[in-house]
Amino acid sequence: MHIRDIFAADSTTLSFEFFPPKTEADSLVLYENIASLETLHPSFVSVTYGAGGGTRELTHNLVVRLKKTTNLDPTPHLTCVCHQAADIQSILEKYAEAGVSNILALGGDPPRDLTGYVKANDAFQQAGDLVRFIRKFNDSDAHPDKRGFGIGVAGFPEGHPATPNRLDELDHLKAKVDEGADYICTQLFFDNRDFYDFRERCELAGIRVPIIAGIMPVTSLSGMKRMAQLALGAHFPARLTKALQRAQDDATAVRNVGIHWATEQSRDLLDNGVKGIHFYTLNRSDATRQIYSSLGLRDSIPVRRG
Ligand SMILES: Cc1cc2nc3c(=O)[nH]c(=O)nc-3n(C[C@H](O)[C@H](O)[C@H](O)COP(=O)(O)OP(=O)(O)OC[C@H]3O[C@@H](n4cnc5c(N)ncnc54)[C@H](O)[C@@H]3O)c2cc1C
Repeated sequence: MHIRDIFAADSTTLSFEFFPPKTEADSLVLYENIASLETLHPSFVSVTYGAGGGTRELTHNLVVRLKKTTNLDPTPHLTCVCHQAADIQSILEKYAEAGVSNILALGGDPPRDLTGYVKANDAFQQAGDLVRFIRKFNDSDAHPDKRGFGIGVAGFPEGHPATPNRLDELDHLKAKVDEGADYICTQLFFDNRDFYDFRERCELAGIRVPIIAGIMPVTSLSGMKRMAQLALGAHFPARLTKALQRAQDDATAVRNVGIHWATEQSRDLLDNGVKGIHFYTLNRSDATRQIYSSLGLRDSIPVRRG
């Protein structure tokens, strides 16, 4: 379903993010967790996109499999990294043919294990260029929906490390939205004040599209370190860090602290009129299910079925 129709149907969207598994064993775990999360009837799910090589095919394969074999509505991530316009055109054609409705258009992380990568060789330098290209594709009537793909872009409540000037950064975000984005999905954050401030700054800048909040429960200390690396610059509030330190040697206690924190963040966001919450699931279902259950989400939010 086109993202504009999803926002029209769901007063608050609830969505889940997966990454494509690399091994057979990881795939089995993911599909079990997907089956469990499917019963929560999310508004949509999204699938991340790697920096190169075979992992990119895995995104396409997972998206098409979700589309064909589940009731979930998959949104592939797509990045500018290592792509020429013809590659993107061919990917869009395949997704249009598979009936995929929406795409998250991103700049993309630079490949860690690809020596000799030169960003200047990519056809698109910023996510905004990719949005413009998808918009042009949409005008070509190549998609079964006459509006073409719904388009999402990334937002960074705590700022993006490549643009320390926050005024410039918001200008870039506004320009990217003006290219034709339908919504913004944010980087994970642990202090809702950062999200509310970002939402207000977007409002002041004249950005009118819905902003979905990215929430990732800490479920282990090693996971938290990985998160800090992925979401460079993310601020870990002292209250959260203190609670995790108290739990230190007890994996269950760490998990409980992380899930409780994410639950409280989500409760506060819902109370403050958030347009959507996007759960970074790390391909697991337990934490998201627990948050849903603690918040009575299925009872309190009109969730679209089927
Ligand atoms: C929800 C979400 C999902 C993500 N999924 C993936 C994924 O699947 N795969 C992946 O590789 N990465 C993913 N990322 C990471 C993301 O691609 C990187 O953080 C990337 O560095 C920034 O992406 P962007 O789309 O904001 O890029 P851009 O909008 O291109 O911004 C990147 C930087 O360039 C600056 N900029 C933008 N426009 C201009 C301009 N006109 N002139 C000068 N500077 C400009 C911005 O201020 C920013 O600092 C995700 C991030 C988020 C928040």
